Formats: sequence, structure tokens, C-alpha cells
Amino acid sequence: MLDWSDTAATTPKLAPQPAVADDSAAGSLSHGLGAITRGAGRVSVDEKAMINCRADVNQLLPLKYRWAWEKYLAGCNNHWMPTEVSMQADIALWKSRDGLTEDERRSIKRNLGFFAASESLVANNIVLAIYRHLTNPECRQYLLRQAFEEAVHTHTFQYIVESLGLDEGELFNMYREVPSITDKAAWALKHTQHLDDPDFRTGTLEADQAFLRDLIAFYVCFEGMWFYTGFAQILSLGRRNKMVGIAEQYQYILRDESIHLNFGIDVINQIKNENPHLWTRAFQDEVRVMLTEAAALEVAYARDTMPRGFLGLNAALCEQYMRFIGNRRGAQIGLGPIFPETENPFPWMSEAMDLKKEKNFFETRVIEYQNGGALSWD
Ligand code: MN
Ligand code: FE
Repeated sequence: MLDWSDTAATTPKLAPQPAVADDSAAGSLSHGLGAITRGAGRVSVDEKAMINCRADVNQLLPLKYRWAWEKYLAGCNNHWMPTEVSMQADIALWKSRDGLTEDERRSIKRNLGFFAASESLVANNIVLAIYRHLTNPECRQYLLRQAFEEAVHTHTFQYIVESLGLDEGELFNMYREVPSITDKAAWALKHTQHLDDPDFRTGTLEADQAFLRDLIAFYVCFEGMWFYTGFAQILSLGRRNKMVGIAEQYQYILRDESIHLNFGIDVINQIKNENPHLWTRAFQDEVRVMLTEAAALEVAYARDTMPRGFLGLNAALCEQYMRFIGNRRGAQIGLGPIFPETENPFPWMSEAMDLKKEKNFFETRVIEYQNGGALSWD
């Protein structure tokens, strides 16, 4: 065991440093970059808190929130890279004349376009808003892992574009060109914009509620509702043996996102437990409206994406799934039913979530695999 108790005796003598942190200053609140308080006491678990914490955020241990650390470990255990998935079958199908209907192509492209920019929106929100205001090192440790996973997801869409030879501008700019996608992104950004203001600080009722609103918009609505209908669309095609490479990548993204979602739910509930005054009746009503709005935006997107529907999938089923998922998400943060009770129209989605890495491509991937950029289709 190392003994650090004599550190002070062996530290070379330096000139007195002028910058000494003042614990009472708002600026010393827990972002981790303030001046060091020399000789400050060790952190105790009781001092740690989710928001507005004054305990040093640069010390991971002692852990307070084991659920956050466990999600970090689970994320690391799920490591994957999109380039490990073979795109050969998808390339052949995409280039074939009649393997896909026009409706299927439109739905696939819109789905890819929605996700391509959304992964960046989610990543930016984590890094530029959530990370600053969550004052707990084990939660930040998970956020760093999540940020990397969002980069892997963005990489997935780059890899799909390259493999299938899609128009990169069409796909990545779709969130600014297709109104039903713009509406979803704009709705989420509305809830994070003022957190991006350098002068924004938590610590008042209004500011802390604004932070909770951001967490709910991104973790519950964006990742927890919209992403799930997006996964269902592609996995439904995969079940019919179409675009199986993309479907496999979506299964890996879904596995990551289910941890992102559950981390977000735990964060929201822990902040509620520690700050019950934030969770007022009026605020709960506001959150119910948020989930209702998020579902309505998704329904508009489903109609726009699948105006006629196709085998196994149409806008009505997506709407039903959104209501089913919306009620589950509401219950996870302690709200009663938001929509009339409904059956899960895609019961196979729960199997898709139980994907086991070992049964899959990590053992069976082919070495000679090439991506689309290296293939000739003449
Ligand atoms: Mn993601
Ligand atoms: Fe995510």
C-alpha cells in the first residue's frame, strides 16, 4: 500500500501561490477547473451530489453512485466499431434494380438522415451542456464513455454513406432540409440552448429545472423515444432480410442507447431525490406535455417518412409504438400514463435488445471484407 501522508514534507518549497480557491465563490462550484485549495480535506461520500456540489469533482473515489460506475463498465464491455460489420449484402441490395421499393428507399434514407445529425446533436449536448452542470465524477466518467459512443455512432453513418455511395450532403444536411426532421431537432435544441450560455449556472429553482428539462428532452424524448422508433424501422427491414448490415449496426447502437437511456433515467431520478422541490406538480405537468409533443413530432415524421407504409411497418404502427414507449418512459421517471394504454406493436424489439456480442460478427467476420469505397460496381 502506498502511504501519501508524508507528501507535504517532501514537496519542494515553492513561493506562496496567490490563487487560492474560495469555496463560497460561485466560480468554484465544481466544474473542476478552479484554483486548487491547498491542503483541503479529503472528499467524503456524503459531500457528493449530482448538481450544485462543492466537493472536488477531480476525485473519482470514493464512489457514491455505483449505478453510474456500473454503466461505465457496461459501456466499455460493449465496445464495437461499425467497420467490423460487413456491408456486402447491403451494397448489393442497394445497387440492385428491384430489391427495394421506392418507399423502402425513402424510409431508409430519411432514417439515416435523422440519425446522422442526431448523433452529433446528442454528443454536443453531452459535452457542452450536461457535462458542465453534472457535478459528480462518476457520472462524468460515464458521460465521457457516452460521448465516445456517440462518436462511434456518427462514424457508423459516415461508413454507411461511404459503403452505399450515398450523397453525403443529402444525408448529413437532411435535418435542415426535411421539415419533419428539422422539427424534432429544433424541439430538442430549444431545451438545451440556454445551458450553452456561458453565464448559465445551476443553483436556482429556475436554472435547476431548466437543467432537468434538458436531461428529459435529450435522454427521455430524443434518445428514449425517437431513437426507438428509428431502430424499429430499420430492424423491421432487417427481419425481412433487407439491409442486414445496417440492421446489425443498429442493433449495436440500440444496445449502447439502452444504456444511455437508463443512465439518463437514473440521473433524472437521483436529481429528483436530492432536490424534491424541483419536481413540482406544475413541472410534472410540463414534462407530460414534453412527452406528448415529442410523440406528436415523431408521428408527423413517421407519416412523412412512410406515407404509404410497407410490409410490417407503417405510420400507424409507429404511432402506437411511440405511445407504448412514451408511457414506459413516463413511468420510469415517476409519471402516470401519458397516453391510453396500448399493446407493444413490435414485441420483437425486446429480443433485438438482448443481442449477444459473442453470437455475432466478432467471431464470424470475414478478413477479406472491404468497404464500398474499395469496390468496383461497373
Ligand atoms: Mn448514439
Ligand atoms: Fe446516445
